[in-house]
Amino acid sequence: MDTALIDIIIVGHGIAGCNLAHLAETRGLSFCVIDEGGYSTSKVAVGMINPITGRKYVKTWQADTLWPFLEKHYAWLEKGLSEPIIHAHPLFKVLPDIDSLNTWQMRLGNPAYHKYLQDKQPSSLQGINLVQPYGGFYIDKAYRVDGPALLDASVRRWVNKGCYHKEVFDVSNLTLDKDSIRYRSLRAKHIIFCQGHAISSNPFFRDIPVRANKGEALIIESKSLPRDIIIGHQVNIVPLGNDRYWVGSTYAWEDETIDPTATGKEGLLDRLARSFQGEYRVLDHLAGLRPASKDRRPIIGWSPKSSQVACLAGMGTKGYSLSPYFADMLLDAVINQKDILPEVNLMRFA
Ligand SMILES: Cc1cc2nc3c(=O)[nH]c(=O)nc-3n(C[C@H](O)[C@H](O)[C@H](O)COP(=O)(O)OP(=O)(O)OC[C@H]3O[C@@H](n4cnc5c(N)ncnc54)[C@H](O)[C@@H]3O)c2cc1C
Repeated sequence: MDTALIDIIIVGHGIAGCNLAHLAETRGLSFCVIDEGGYSTSKVAVGMINPITGRKYVKTWQADTLWPFLEKHYAWLEKGLSEPIIHAHPLFKVLPDIDSLNTWQMRLGNPAYHKYLQDKQPSSLQGINLVQPYGGFYIDKAYRVDGPALLDASVRRWVNKGCYHKEVFDVSNLTLDKDSIRYRSLRAKHIIFCQGHAISSNPFFRDIPVRANKGEALIIESKSLPRDIIIGHQVNIVPLGNDRYWVGSTYAWEDETIDPTATGKEGLLDRLARSFQGEYRVLDHLAGLRPASKDRRPIIGWSPKSSQVACLAGMGTKGYSLSPYFADMLLDAVINQKDILPEVNLMRFA
């Protein structure tokens, strides 16, 4: 007897595959998730979502479109999974020099930035030993999404539904028929790869320009940092609760291992010392590989080899803000034949 035909096989359950699975579920699609389990870059990331980035303090790409979508999406996941997932934290951005102070004042005068910038100083920074000769400013609508909590709660949900397979996906077991694809005992209409940096070794997507960019971070404990504010300085200092903070991160192209390095730690401690002069102790040191695309935009769409095989890839440094909206766009393309935004369409590299 043939197995039931499902709509989608999702390979990879980092933040991209996880968001895709939830959005597929909302649409009433049948799906299963295959992931090797354990480590993912999405669990190393702190899940920070920040609408104002760079030295010029500009709105991040597509912020006005992404933010309403992701705010609703993560709040809805939080409710559905009965798990605290999205934490709103104003981000205090420390100004490095007088020019940046002028840039910020210019942004503050621009109505397009009003919903993202605050001109007031929350009191919880008083008494915090920050290095800030030029002061700083507050960014609103910044969040931390608790990746480990979201990913683990989602796995429990998929296991309960009987649609989670903890295994390494072996592409040599994939066969494409005219109207369906087969993988071991599974039969589906579509397969979507959400493999993070590992997409570059998938034969269906070998030519898309995704490279691993290594990032390291520290987990510290301190009683001298604010509990409800993210600090953006030489490093980002992000509150995790219980006096623990995530401190990151580094960027390196040469090393494609997930081992934390002494150089990475030294660099982070040096930058932390130039940001904060209170007491702390290091609890942990993490490393992960960002799936960086050549033009810093996500890469979504079909493999040039098959219209049944798609990918949600290239999330780079912003998987937590980009993946909800673009997972939904990909589902619309796969299920409803809607267009994919040219800037993220895999076809731009064809
Ligand atoms: C130090 C650091 C800090 C970061 N901070 C942030 C941040 O604050 N905010 C933010 O938005 N982003 C941040 N990022 C970037 C973020 O981590 C990525 O954008 C995001 O995790 C990419 O998600 P993904 O689901 O595409 O890939 P991944 O998280 O890598 O997930 C891919 C999944 O696919 C699975 N997989 C791959 N191949 C197979 C296979 N053959 N069989 C089975 N399973 C497979 C893997 O096991 C993994 O679970 C940070 C990254 C680093 C390294």
